[in-house]
Amino acid sequence: MEFKDLRELMVESQLIPRGIRDKRVLDAMRRVPRHLFVDDSMQHIAYDDMALPIGEGQTISQPYMVAVMTELLELHGKEKVLEIGTGSGYQAAVLAELAREVYTIERMPILAERAETKFQDLFYRNIHVRVGDGTLGWSEEAPFDRIIITAGSPAVPEPLIQQLSIDGILVIPVGSRYSQQLLRIRKTKDGTAEEYHTPCVFVPLIGTYGWTGDQ
Ligand code: SAH
Repeated sequence: MEFKDLRELMVESQLIPRGIRDKRVLDAMRRVPRHLFVDDSMQHIAYDDMALPIGEGQTISQPYMVAVMTELLELHGKEKVLEIGTGSGYQAAVLAELAREVYTIERMPILAERAETKFQDLFYRNIHVRVGDGTLGWSEEAPFDRIIITAGSPAVPEPLIQQLSIDGILVIPVGSRYSQQLLRIRKTKDGTAEEYHTPCVFVPLIGTYGWTGDQ
């Protein structure tokens, strides 16, 4: 089967039956070549229903989790988005299909470098990569209309709330080191409103406002 057909199968069997409804999200998942964001040896399982290792002890999230988080962001096309945890770059590419500009921060230089090369190869000109501690945000570019954290955090990093626009949306997996739940925060002029969504398992967010250490 061709990769294009595997993507369609992924959408039909993993995303639609589990409730992903946003047509733009489904179409972006049909377009982005996920197999190019994993190692060559894993291309044949790139569209399977699971997270995969990307080296350095990190993972590319399961397609369903990428779709859920993207749908929760309610993207219409004009947003400036901040992602924390570039990893393979796959989630950033999906966001780049649906928003105006994507700023993404990765703490591991080797992963950031690899992702940057992918974005160039695939002509994603609206993705900007930076190496650093994403829990501090990207103050020079703030505010952001949307913020997505793709690593598990003990709590919501305060600088990210500050760097979120009024009427902005932030999505983050919050919980213990080994299991979390997606939390969506909407910021209004009167404060923030929180709702919990899908349970999930992400690698830890390590930094000033995340977990400490490397284990
Ligand atoms: N969005 C990624 C999944 C990344 S896994 C994808 O689509 O492939 C989580 C990533 O977050 C890892 O690469 C990890 O190195 C990174 N990370 C962990 N803590 C971080 C921090 N404080 N700032 C930036 N990146 C961080």
